[in-house]
Amino acid sequence: MSKQVLKVDGIDVFYGTSQALFGLSFDVQQGETLALLGRNGAGKSTTMKSVAGVIPARKGTVTLHNRVVTGKAAHLIARAGVGYVPEDRQIFPDLTVEDNLTIAVKKGANGEDDWSVDRVYDMLPLLKPLRERLGGQLSGGEQQMLTVGRSLMGNPDVLLLDEPSEGLAPIMVQKIDDLIQSLRKMGKTIVLAEQNLHFCLGLADRAVVIDKGKDVFCGTISELNANAEIKQRYLSV
Ligand code: ATP
Repeated sequence: MSKQVLKVDGIDVFYGTSQALFGLSFDVQQGETLALLGRNGAGKSTTMKSVAGVIPARKGTVTLHNRVVTGKAAHLIARAGVGYVPEDRQIFPDLTVEDNLTIAVKKGANGEDDWSVDRVYDMLPLLKPLRERLGGQLSGGEQQMLTVGRSLMGNPDVLLLDEPSEGLAPIMVQKIDDLIQSLRKMGKTIVLAEQNLHFCLGLADRAVVIDKGKDVFCGTISELNANAEIKQRYLSV
């Protein structure tokens, strides 16, 4: 039987007086990859930020392992097991690659399975020769890899990846794709925000489509791919 890791239940999220999410709901089961899909400005990043505690929901709840985390500070939500990889990457530009990784270390619930710098280098081999390089001197794709590596060092129970392939050259997009595949094979639980359904097809198990801050579809990724109406209405496919 699958085990629920994350549940987002009816969240309303505002930027000042402007409402961005309207009663949005979804859940994520252990070991699955859930794609959050929608056009520009649909509310994918806001959803991620709200789950991570960067912008708390004003209404509704976010539950992690059956414990409500809504309203908790972002660092506490991270400590509770949410690894957030924001769209704008946010590495430390003046620290080396290795220091960017070691600064993020946090023990996991299951000590022997914990991530280490060496394990991150095994998973993301392109980072190893760059270990002494400053974060700010990396290419966009290398920074994206570093941000994912840094999140893994925190031993998250669920990884939130906000448009990880955005703005990257095709070769780096392929590397991100390979990385997500490897994480999936390891049984990681992933929420992947994406505009591009095609990128998610081989990667995600289920999909939630967001439009104007509301969830308008929830189903398997193949059900979504077979649904021409939803694709046309909400995904510009
Ligand atoms: P994108 O793919 O462009 O990142 P998205 O689906 O992630 O889009 P969000 O960034 O979550 O969409 O934006 C949802 C809505 O919230 C949009 O209407 C956007 O204009 C608004 N919004 C986002 N950030 C802010 C902010 N800092 N202040 C005010 N409104 C914001």
